[in-house]
Amino acid sequence: MHEMSIAEGIVDIALDTMKNNDGTVVHAVRLRLGAMSGVEPDALLFCFEAVTKGTAAEGAELVIEHVPLKAKCLDCLTEFVVEGYRFICPACQSTTVTTVTGRELQVLSIDMD
Ligand SMILES: [Zn+2]
Repeated sequence: MHEMSIAEGIVDIALDTMKNNDGTVVHAVRLRLGAMSGVEPDALLFCFEAVTKGTAAEGAELVIEHVPLKAKCLDCLTEFVVEGYRFICPACQSTTVTTVTGRELQVLSIDMD
């Protein structure tokens, strides 16, 4: 399950950041997660808990900030939220669209002491 390697990456970032700031414990990690990042939030939370066991981040909360999938029409420049993976401009029905947000997988902040 690829959520496990993603969780390991997040915990690595959190623990590195903690060490670089002379911290001893991680309380929470805030994450931006796009609707099209391909990551299942429930699976990620489960893996995060497993990966943090026995580390300075054990018991830390993973706070997920969901980012909607947004696209922009390249013909009329309308930006719209994509529902059900329908990449069609609601204004001009063009299918020449580009993704604006929704692929994010980014650690925003780490709460530590
Ligand atoms: Zn359009």
